[in-house]
Amino acid sequence: VAPQTARYLDGLNEAQRTAVEALDGPVLMLAGAGTGKTRALTARIAHLIASGKARPNEILAVTFTNKAAREMKYRIGQQLGDVVEGMPWLGTFHAIGVRFLRRHAELVGLKSNFTILDTDDQLRLLKQLIRANNLDEKRWPPRALAGLIDGWKNRAWRPEVVPGSEASAFDNRGTELYAAYQDRLRTLNACDFGDLLLHVVTILQQNPDILAQYQRWLRFILVDEYQDTNVAQYLLLRLLAQAHSNICCVGDDDQSIYGWRGAEVGNILRFERDFPGATVVRLEQNYRSTPHILAAASGVIAANEGRLGKTLWTEETEGQKVVLIGHWDGEDEARWIGEEIEALERGGRGLPPQSPDGMAILVRASHQMRAFEDRFLTIGLPYRVVGGPRFYERLEIRDAMAYFRLAISPTDDLAFERIVNMPKRGLGDKAQQTIQRVARENDVPLLLGAALVLRDGLLGGRGAANLREFIENMARWHDAVRNSIPGAVVEGDDDVIEHDGPTQRKRLSHIELAEQMLDESGYTAMWQAQKTPEAEGRLENLKELIKALEGFDNLQGFLEHVALIMDNETEDRTEKVTIMTLHAAKGLEFPMVFLPGWEDGLFPSQRSMDESGPKGLEEERRLAYVGITRAEKLCMISFAANRRVFGQWQSQLPSRFIDELPPEHVEIRTPPGLYGGAFGAAARQPEHSTMDDRAAKADVYNAPGWRRMQARGQKAPPQPKAKHPPAPDVHFTDGERVFHQKFGTGTVLAVDGDKLAVAFDRAGEKHIVARFVTPADG
Ligand code: ATP
Ligand code: MG
Repeated sequence: VAPQTARYLDGLNEAQRTAVEALDGPVLMLAGAGTGKTRALTARIAHLIASGKARPNEILAVTFTNKAAREMKYRIGQQLGDVVEGMPWLGTFHAIGVRFLRRHAELVGLKSNFTILDTDDQLRLLKQLIRANNLDEKRWPPRALAGLIDGWKNRAWRPEVVPGSEASAFDNRGTELYAAYQDRLRTLNACDFGDLLLHVVTILQQNPDILAQYQRWLRFILVDEYQDTNVAQYLLLRLLAQAHSNICCVGDDDQSIYGWRGAEVGNILRFERDFPGATVVRLEQNYRSTPHILAAASGVIAANEGRLGKTLWTEETEGQKVVLIGHWDGEDEARWIGEEIEALERGGRGLPPQSPDGMAILVRASHQMRAFEDRFLTIGLPYRVVGGPRFYERLEIRDAMAYFRLAISPTDDLAFERIVNMPKRGLGDKAQQTIQRVARENDVPLLLGAALVLRDGLLGGRGAANLREFIENMARWHDAVRNSIPGAVVEGDDDVIEHDGPTQRKRLSHIELAEQMLDESGYTAMWQAQKTPEAEGRLENLKELIKALEGFDNLQGFLEHVALIMDNETEDRTEKVTIMTLHAAKGLEFPMVFLPGWEDGLFPSQRSMDESGPKGLEEERRLAYVGITRAEKLCMISFAANRRVFGQWQSQLPSRFIDELPPEHVEIRTPPGLYGGAFGAAARQPEHSTMDDRAAKADVYNAPGWRRMQARGQKAPPQPKAKHPPAPDVHFTDGERVFHQKFGTGTVLAVDGDKLAVAFDRAGEKHIVARFVTPADG
């Protein structure tokens, strides 16, 4: 392709073209939301390749999410054909870090098949350390230590370089515990998320030859969402770029939302000093949102001090105002959003029918998600939850993955601890302590320690028999993993497991093997035996997990993916509404965006409001800006007067950010008749009233109805609901129509004592306990 006529340049504006075509030397693109930064960055990669300036594997491109990386590859692929196959260094910092570390692990004392710990493992490990150091767990919680260590890793401080000023941290033991933790990780052949960067930086700093090699290889560097890089990431980029200065960073200081995780917006401001002579490109035209949405976002962010300040404009002239609506409680809010989505699908609200794929609900805190999940399950609205490893954090999923991990790597002690007595094998605390002691004394992993315990007859009875079976199973699965996976890295020390049982000859796919592990270990049976709706949900999740394996060549690849994902969308083709956190939505866009829970204490968060300075609050405000600017056509902000937070009803005040919305760009909508007039003055307004001034808007919240709602919320929890519905005096019969909280309506197929088989209209056939359903009316 001749670059001058290349498709990737089509339609770019002049400023974007400058950023795309200035291939040599540093470039900084600093611009507001939706101005085409990411698009220009993608075009730049295409240009580098098409013009012959760089081969695909010579480009290091950092995106913020795996999803963004996939999208970028897809777009480049569309422009240039198959070249993207060879873009190994396009991904998130973490993905790039893993790739690098697998090659050079030995330089930081790890083996190339190291495990990546998740938060849960990390906390368990830290807890052990805290106990071993005789610290009071209550006063010195593992979570706090995790935060401290993460913070240090984000600043690229190894234990030996943590500055003296930090010496008093964690009862003066912080640094010492950090060092002990790192030792422990090395013994386990594991690293945590922070290590994925810290180790890379360490290796590059300590091995000039390797650094030089990568500087030669990775000749062009591109970074999206640069405003959210932390010090370790910044150091990594600077190390690699200092040789050639071919680095292009794009960002927006108003969208810096990861300060709490060590991101330094200062990196963006420092760019011109680090890379003198940088071409600085500013983009001002927004191509994403309607004027009202843009004005609302600009209005909110204007309240922040010390911004670089940017103008944003759009050629667009049409469009609806930002919708604002208040509700009685969080459930009403979820119900309203469900109805609104269905209305939009049918083509209401003055718009043509909309696809659920283009709709997103962006929440401030992940606990907000459940209300939507429940509601959407009830009405049968397909949705996906993205942003944060929600699914993979579930207990049953983590258990199942521990089986996979131990089969791959027999030295994975954390996995062993998790599942040795799960399901119950009669291996209680005492038995486990014996195993740990023997393992420690012999300096071997727990699995081998367990084998020694059996050999020496230190354990008797049922526990011993079960343990033997467990070990033999593991040995068999370990072999099967190796046989089933072409090209997988699996630990080869045969002596770890002694067994003389028949070896599996048949080569299983990793999917069959995974199913086999869960069945033969008794894990699936454990949940099946419980026959509760909750256990059923868990079994469903396990099925989902097996389904997820289909997308991978082997188990290790899958586990790696899980450790890294920030988005877990499944590959099926159903159109779905997206539910995700505001943090995870950065860089994305949706035609319709719902922003629920705009209440003081939730958004902005209580923590940010309690801070003495404005820093936390300003970061929350940037988050609001990110949220509003995700919307292309419709942005709907809502709040509730009452909310149940961690089991406690609280009455809520509308978010202070609502007061910052410029009234002329906002339409206040009132909830439909459901509310029995409780909304007072607001309810008396015509359905699509427009508020023209601040005073009128304030009036809504001062209306007697509103205050009454507040007062009621304070005194008594609204519509208190029993934890489980009481047992009904009803006996169900075959063919009867019933209703279930989660699965909706269905028809009874069979009755067996207090258990029913029900064919649900939307959720399919389920077995449930009778007291969880009520007769469906009509
Ligand atoms: P954010 O700050 O939210 O990450 P961004 O600056 O990266 O936003 P993009 O996502 O690249 O913005 O672009 C926003 C939208 O505008 C996309 O749909 C993109 O395709 C479109 N767009 C970008 N540049 C142009 C252009 N020159 N002409 C038409 N549409 C454009
Ligand atoms: Mg972007």
